[in-house]
Amino acid sequence: MGNPLVSRMQGFGTTIFAEMSALAAETGAVNLGQGFPDTDGPPEMLAAATAAIDGGRNQYPPGPGVPELLEAVAAHQWRFYGVELDPRSQVLVTVGATEAIAAAVLALCEPGDEVVTFEPYYDSYAATIALAGAVRRTSVLRFPDFAVDEESLRAAFSDKTRLVLLNTPHNPTGKVFTRREIELVCELARQHDAWVVTDEVYEHLAFDGLEHVPVATIPGMAERTLTISSAGKTFSATGWKVGWVSGPDEAVAAVRTVKQFLTYVASGPFQPAVAVALGLGDDVYSGLARSLQAKRDLLVEGLRSAGLEVAVPSGTYFVVADAAPLGAVDALDFCRRLPSLAGVVGVPVSVFHDDPDAARTLVRFAFCKRDDVLAEAVRRLASARLGAAG
Ligand code: PMP
Ligand code: GLN
Repeated sequence: MGNPLVSRMQGFGTTIFAEMSALAAETGAVNLGQGFPDTDGPPEMLAAATAAIDGGRNQYPPGPGVPELLEAVAAHQWRFYGVELDPRSQVLVTVGATEAIAAAVLALCEPGDEVVTFEPYYDSYAATIALAGAVRRTSVLRFPDFAVDEESLRAAFSDKTRLVLLNTPHNPTGKVFTRREIELVCELARQHDAWVVTDEVYEHLAFDGLEHVPVATIPGMAERTLTISSAGKTFSATGWKVGWVSGPDEAVAAVRTVKQFLTYVASGPFQPAVAVALGLGDDVYSGLARSLQAKRDLLVEGLRSAGLEVAVPSGTYFVVADAAPLGAVDALDFCRRLPSLAGVVGVPVSVFHDDPDAARTLVRFAFCKRDDVLAEAVRRLASARLGAAG
């Protein structure tokens, strides 16, 4: 019968995260591939989830999300950014940020519409744009500084541009877009009358005192911006899959229309628990950033002492390094061999590119791990370096 998969999804195969986590499980390698923390989030949040299960909140939650979570998201946007939202009409709870991205792109794009995004891009962007029958137009962020190239960004826009899919802080590069860069994206979006769908799942993971600039806070942008985030990153609960999207009423209603038929609802007892987490004190938010900044320093230092050139990330929990000194020629092939070479798993940055030459030997490592796990990974990479040199 041949491959039954629709042609627009061919080439997407199995995600690199699933492949690399399976490889880590098979080989016992230290998994710095898929980004998930190896410690739990706030105890108050965990207790609230257990209480919700014990309290019988185990049936379908309301379509848009449980009221206390809608209110908590609106309160969070106000508290951190001064963005005012009506929780009933301008917030929607989704199955992680992944569903919010998919539902937003499917809701806004007609087949043939163009979506501007930066590459490397988070893998679901390309797949989701393809699912919608839309066309991606990219501008490349280049190692090691990943600065926005204005000329190529301008060239990515056209009269077919329907939306910009932005991600700041940015996975996989760890880049926090500067205000100036975000303003440029916004200016182009306005010029082309395009929507901005902004994936801000790492909003609380900006380091060195750097400011995360939400697109919706740029003057004139709130009316054309859908903002996405997730409890997975901020509260170290990637398995709960509680995300949300906020923005103007009509756009949120459009996303809700699509979302209803993707999953309808999910995560019943986790939703009130995330509402509790969102209301926790500033120390919880700043403590997470502080702890991850220290882990970043540990891994960056370790990778450098293992002889790798590193792009020091200003945000997220990922660091990109050039693995050429370890013998990498093709990052995907290299990452498939890294468990046997060094007992470590990383993710090839090339798979997040339309132009893999932009990242031939680049590997992304996650540092949302216990310090002893990071130290062990670094020790292993350093001995593999000695092996490659010898
Ligand atoms: N966007 C980015 C940039 C991510 O890194 C991730 C994954 N961690 C997601 C979206 C998906 O988030 P979720 O797990 O909440 O679906
Ligand atoms: N966002 C996580 C990462 O970039 C993985 C999420 C997933 O497995 N889809 O590593």
